[in-house]
Amino acid sequence: EQEHLVNSEKLSIAGQLAAGIAHEIRNPLTTIKGFIKLMKTSKKPEYIDIIAEEVERMEGIVTELLLLSKPKKEKFEKKNIVSALQQVVTLLKSQAHLKNIEIEASYAAEHIHIECDENQLKQAFINFLKNAIEAMPGGGVIQIHLTFADQVLKISFKDQGIGMPEDMLQKLGEPFVTTKESGTGLGFMVSKSIIVSHGGTLHVKSALGQGTTVEIEFPFAGEAS
Ligand code: ADP
Ligand code: MG
Repeated sequence: EQEHLVNSEKLSIAGQLAAGIAHEIRNPLTTIKGFIKLMKTSKKPEYIDIIAEEVERMEGIVTELLLLSKPKKEKFEKKNIVSALQQVVTLLKSQAHLKNIEIEASYAAEHIHIECDENQLKQAFINFLKNAIEAMPGGGVIQIHLTFADQVLKISFKDQGIGMPEDMLQKLGEPFVTTKESGTGLGFMVSKSIIVSHGGTLHVKSALGQGTTVEIEFPFAGEAS
């Protein structure tokens, strides 16, 4: 009975996702088709720009969805999650600087090895950080904390950005929900699924106009050093 419920729930999520994907891909396709038709009579460079933009959008959607379908547990290896996070921070620091954003990070340990798909975890960290950066058009500080206590590993991303209203917070994690002009609305859902597939949990706190904190927790029974 219980299992039945879980299965049908999964099916309906897959169904929703499929409908969403079909919709999100059909829209740019319709636009592209229209502009190709127009180009038969006049070849304006703007048309090519629009087509290129729509193709890029579809590429973004497909790239994020591929992450969702990647094989999971089989690829797990013992990796240092602290250095994975540090690499992501280094990667995004210069991008943040260009937008007057400072990233401050503190790590309670240097080595915490967990069984994981390192690339997937990095992708999730990148998504949370990108969302934080995109939420701070006027600049500010992003704080990242990695702490380890009572066999729980916590990683938090705190921004001083625009925050989210309550209804947006409710919808966060649903596919294709975005407030950005060129957003896919898939980053958070994919990241959440990566964290959950690693046995982690996710908490989001947000206050409109004040900022957002994304907190990840992993149960972990190993040693930190
Ligand atoms: P995208 O970034 O492509 O819009 P996401 O799934 O990453 O898609 O995020 C969905 C939506 O959640 C965003 O469009 C934004 O409205 C909101 N959001 C996510 N993270 C934050 C954040 N740190 N601050 C404010 N809003 C956020
Ligand atoms: Mg995003």
